[in-house]
Amino acid sequence: MPKKAKGRRGLLVVISGPSGVGKSTVVRKLLTLSPKLKMSLSATTRPPRPNEKHKQDYLFLTQEDFFDRANKGEFIEWAQVHGHYYGTPKSYVEEELSKNHVVVCEVDIQGAASIKEMVHSGKLKSATVFIFLIPPSVDILAFRLRRRKTEDEEMVNYRLRAAIAELQVMEKYDYIVVNDKVDSAAEKIAAIVNVEKERVYLN
Ligand code: 5GP
Repeated sequence: MPKKAKGRRGLLVVISGPSGVGKSTVVRKLLTLSPKLKMSLSATTRPPRPNEKHKQDYLFLTQEDFFDRANKGEFIEWAQVHGHYYGTPKSYVEEELSKNHVVVCEVDIQGAASIKEMVHSGKLKSATVFIFLIPPSVDILAFRLRRRKTEDEEMVNYRLRAAIAELQVMEKYDYIVVNDKVDSAAEKIAAIVNVEKERVYLN
């Protein structure tokens, strides 16, 4: 009988998609549906938005601190996104995966590509699943980016152009989930995670 997840530990769920698609909101809902999931807390050099808290939404770091950590290899992946740096701290993810837990990380498409490369090169031994969240339409994405009022119009247009370019990579993912309604998108991801936990790995 094939052993489940032979030689691998845990499951890393990588959620990506264009900025403004509602990844954070969907992930928050997902954590209420599946409270056993472990959420990776990213580090960023972006200044906090109103209502964002250090160690709750992000580890808000200075650029110096961020690069100090990056140079020490403390991030699984890091990338520059819209003029700021973002990274996934390695220690938390590795520790939770070693306990055979399911860890969720929300990254941009560069971060997802870096993690995929680690899987292919054998640097990451855990099972992984790559999920791409898309907006129902570009108009709705534009509406959502403007509604959150955290970026000026120039930045909204910049993020929209980036989002349209980012949509081109979606076929590289294992699953595409349309974020039409937060609840149903989160339910779909919870179902994907439940199925992926049962996958048999033969290598
Ligand atoms: P925001 O500034 O809107 O919070 O995030 C901007 C983008 O950075 C989003 O696409 C978000 O998914 C991405 N992001 C957040 N954390 C990370 C991370 O740790 N690594 C990478 N590569 N991207 C991240």
